[in-house]
Amino acid sequence: MPKKWSYDRTYFFDEGIQFECQGCGVCCTGSPGTVYVDKSEIACIAEFLGISVPDFTKKYLYPYKNSHTIREDSEWRCLFYDNGCEIYPVRPMQCRTFPFWFDNLRSEEKWKRISQECPGIGCGPLYSKERILEIVQPTFVI
Ligand code: SF4
Repeated sequence: MPKKWSYDRTYFFDEGIQFECQGCGVCCTGSPGTVYVDKSEIACIAEFLGISVPDFTKKYLYPYKNSHTIREDSEWRCLFYDNGCEIYPVRPMQCRTFPFWFDNLRSEEKWKRISQECPGIGCGPLYSKERILEIVQPTFVI
């Protein structure tokens, strides 16, 4: 596992990775997950849905760390997944950055595992090593 991400280091994704979401919903369903939402994301999604932040929080969230996570149904399906993401234009950063998460990129073995689950990996535009590092570590400075 890399101690610190660096443009100078070599990674299994040095040549980049192709990715384009196929909308299958595998990452939004099927097993327990945590979808962290911060205060600004909560306000944004509530506005998109046309409900108040307190009502949105009560209906769709439960407390997690210093904010909240989106609730799932009894089959571990995100409450906003119904044959597609119902809040796609305002989906949380965690969803926007999948599958380029620290935990998925920390080893090639982990990446191979997530690649078997996500059919979007290997399709579409090429994400360069630099772009991937920006996504996995947004505060990264060259
Ligand atoms: S598993 Fe991959 S292809 Fe399917 S919805 Fe998630 S990101 Fe898109």
